[in-house]
Amino acid sequence: AELDTLDIVVLGVILCGTLAYLTKGKFWGVVKDPYASSFQNGTANANRAGRTRNIVEKMEESGKNCVIFYGSQTGTAEDYASRLAKEGKSRFGLETMVADLEEYDFDNLDTFPSDKVAMFVLATYGEGEPTDNAVEFYEFLTGEDVAFSEGNDPALENLNYVAFGLGNNTYEHYNSMVRNVDKALTKLGAHRIGDAGEGDDGAGTMEEDFLAWKDPMWAALASKMGLEEREAVYEPIFGIVDREGLTPESAEVYLGELNKMQLEGTNKGPFNAHNPYIAPISESRELFSAKDRNCLHLDVDISGSNLSYQTGDHIAVWPTNPGAEVDRFLDLFELAEKRNNVISVKALEPTAKVPFPTPTTYDAIVRYHLEICAPVSRQFVSTLAAFAPSEEIKAEMTRLGNDKDYFHEKTGPHFYNIARFLSAVSKGEKWTKIPFSAIIEGLTKLQPRYYSISSSSIVQPKKISITAVVESQTIPGRGDPFRGVATNYLFALKQKQNGDENPTPFGQTYEITGPRNKYDGIHVPVHVRHSNFKLPSDPAKPIIMIGPGTGVAPFRGFVQERAKQAKDGVNVGRTLLFFGCRKSTEDFMYKSEWEEYQEALGDKFEMVTAFSREGPKKVYVQHRLKERAQEVNELLLQKASFYVCGDAANMAREVNAVLVQLIAEGRGVTEQKAEEVVKMMRSTNQYQEDVW
Ligand code: FAD
Repeated sequence: AELDTLDIVVLGVILCGTLAYLTKGKFWGVVKDPYASSFQNGTANANRAGRTRNIVEKMEESGKNCVIFYGSQTGTAEDYASRLAKEGKSRFGLETMVADLEEYDFDNLDTFPSDKVAMFVLATYGEGEPTDNAVEFYEFLTGEDVAFSEGNDPALENLNYVAFGLGNNTYEHYNSMVRNVDKALTKLGAHRIGDAGEGDDGAGTMEEDFLAWKDPMWAALASKMGLEEREAVYEPIFGIVDREGLTPESAEVYLGELNKMQLEGTNKGPFNAHNPYIAPISESRELFSAKDRNCLHLDVDISGSNLSYQTGDHIAVWPTNPGAEVDRFLDLFELAEKRNNVISVKALEPTAKVPFPTPTTYDAIVRYHLEICAPVSRQFVSTLAAFAPSEEIKAEMTRLGNDKDYFHEKTGPHFYNIARFLSAVSKGEKWTKIPFSAIIEGLTKLQPRYYSISSSSIVQPKKISITAVVESQTIPGRGDPFRGVATNYLFALKQKQNGDENPTPFGQTYEITGPRNKYDGIHVPVHVRHSNFKLPSDPAKPIIMIGPGTGVAPFRGFVQERAKQAKDGVNVGRTLLFFGCRKSTEDFMYKSEWEEYQEALGDKFEMVTAFSREGPKKVYVQHRLKERAQEVNELLLQKASFYVCGDAANMAREVNAVLVQLIAEGRGVTEQKAEEVVKMMRSTNQYQEDVW
């Protein structure tokens, strides 16, 4: 049989692998996997030594003419960046590379050649902030005196760039990252190609916004750079190498361990977004007494680590995919029999990164590293059409990939994940032709989920509380409900901790003891993310908190903290909490705890409740806020801090509207003026949001 390029490359990789094996890994280090190399010394920076931070040099030496930088928090921007890279390569023959903003310096951006292009895919996080990995870049570019090494003027005259932002229109600073970066680049003389795109998570149209933006962008770029479109051919980015000498029992095989230290059992800090701490859960319990809904309280013990947190911070939980979905996935791609085969995944080009450590097994990749339960991307459907089991299925896939309305009509109510979707399209026929590389490229890395810490760091510095509602929704016409990944995994952990040896929440099973039983004894990988959602430094200042449902999580921490301060004799200011849920008898979380805090705080603390399903009319927190208009306005005039936490889509917006109204009425000013007051409150941090 004829060898195609992939075969040759893979053979080459196998040869290297064999060589490395025979040399007992002496040279193996040359093709290191990213986690092992990055975290050997426990810090994300350790690997940077020796690797250039000069993007111009990097592109030159690797023969690239298009770099796609990403600023990503939850993985979506990173995913879009790699999609652009793939499309640029396959449709236009661009030599593309994807780059984490954190890994480069930008003071030589003025030497970026004019025959190359830089793309920026930038998510806006929280209150208009850059994502963690984009902070330095953002500060450099938008700083007062941005200075370039060559000192050209206008500095970025040669830079051609493309920009897309990921934002959420329910936030005040919608897409401010891409807007501000675009402004700064233009001001410095750079030339934007096409429009600066904006995706809106708030409207739920992120994917479609991205798809609608990219086609005219490619057209503009092709015309600017004189590119010719060719028929898109799939070119794998990763080579999959069978490691026949290894078994899952071999010590160097990753069975879901997230980095080398975990593999070697020397899990030490610093613990961060690259290196989670495998923390014991010291306590877990149910907070609801409803039959069909669950809300978890978990205490995560961080005393064995050097992790710390402050009241109002977030904790990230690293989930594991449910067994049934892992099985479904492996089965559909006919990998079930190979699930425990050991493979290495190698980047076939120097700028690509394998998103998990290897050697590993198919089972570990699917269970611990890929977001296999997430909604299906229409673009990925187009890519996969080429690998359909039959011409008929291929035609249907092509239509689904190209026709937005048809795609949404077909996927709309089903909560399909990729395996369920493909199986529905092929009517159960297996998909055996998809290269595993395409699967790795096409799916997002399994992302940690964030939770607003629901405890106070002065009350329990080494015990982080989580308050999480379990995601589960019935789907018409489908026997089993849709289930959220992380919350059902946590639910299973809770059941196990409370005596159920084989917990199966909604029929799901999880590898609760983790790779090589490393999570045994109820452990969960976590890291802490610091936030700006903070109590005033002066406890005597009044605070107003709006937190319906799990939005009350950080306020449990706030009130817990103030109750402790009051007990310690500190003068505590008025502490007003608006809480809402369906019924006082079902989902009124921490009911008895609030009573304890009340005792400690006396009339300083008041909890205003709204039960939406108890009266003839639905009552929500914003209605209660309105009823308290006069007092709220007075407290705000006394510089009370105003906090909103929880549902971004509706509640936070309505609370904002009520606040404008009550300020207008209370102060006898126009709504327009009141809006300005509220904006000012936000920009001075008097008004803080923690919404999702
Ligand atoms: P996922 O599997 O991630 O699903 C989440 C949602 O995505 C689903 O409900 C569904 O709408 C959609 N979805 C997923 N897969 C599909 C599919 N195949 N088809 C269609 N739709 C799909 N939550 C809390 O309960 N308490 C908190 O204190 C809290 N704090 C947070 C703080 C921050 C800063 C952020 C960003 C989020 C916070 N969240 C909180 C939300 C939390 O991070 C998780 O999103 C939530 O727990 C669901 O996670 P999951 O893995 O169970 O669900």
